[in-house]
Amino acid sequence: MTFTSQIQAVALCRTPYKQKFGIPRQPGLVGAARGFVELQPPFNHIDAVRGLEQYSHLWLLFSFHENLSQGWKTTVRPPRLGGNEKLGVFATRSTFRPNGIGQSVVKLHKIHHKNGIVSLEISGMDLLDGTPVIDIKPYIPFSDAIETAQGGIAHEAPVLAEVKFTEQAHQQVKAYEKLEQYPRFEELIIGVLAQDPRPAYKKSKADPKEYQVALYDLDILWHMQDDAIVVTELRAGA
Ligand code: SAM
Repeated sequence: MTFTSQIQAVALCRTPYKQKFGIPRQPGLVGAARGFVELQPPFNHIDAVRGLEQYSHLWLLFSFHENLSQGWKTTVRPPRLGGNEKLGVFATRSTFRPNGIGQSVVKLHKIHHKNGIVSLEISGMDLLDGTPVIDIKPYIPFSDAIETAQGGIAHEAPVLAEVKFTEQAHQQVKAYEKLEQYPRFEELIIGVLAQDPRPAYKKSKADPKEYQVALYDLDILWHMQDDAIVVTELRAGA
């Protein structure tokens, strides 16, 4: 049954994440990730967010717009199960789903209103830069947080990997961190890489591959050394 002709983006989400690889698999895992929800016409009116400043967290409903062309699958292999077991799409947070809609709770820091542009400063998002946001709602703790809830296969946050830097890479991070456009940069890199973004099948054996994750306009180059992640270089051009 088709019940509506069109859903519009009310906002675009600006985030440090320039490619899907490396984005945390859920919100709240990397608090150092700062971004903005920029309201789009005809919704970019300060009155549309009046009262929102009273809330510490928001629900963002958004489109998995990068995956829409690939459609949806009845079953998926969640990375948490090592890619070996299939679960129904509605039993997972798969990005390949009917209607391609995602939802994330993010922290709200500030509402900005300048030159007719309304933007919400947020952190902890798991969204690609440029993701269309289709709705914004306040997070209501008494109803949205359920202490006794069962978390299925995702009962606990993922185990974190150790992240190290070569001397040269660490100096680069510290230099970038002095610039306004790379807030909490070292923390961001550690937070992202500690999630070990590699596909599950890579994790069980020796892995000599060189990886890169795009954050802001930089490629972060890294590889595995025993069980630790070693950042070797930050390269311009992401
Ligand atoms: N918290 C949301 C949910 O449960 O609906 C998203 C969970 S989904 C597993 C998170 C992943 O979606 C990220 O790791 C990233 O790879 C992917 N992603 C984020 N933004 C996307 C976008 N605009 N289009 C396609 N995939 C996206």
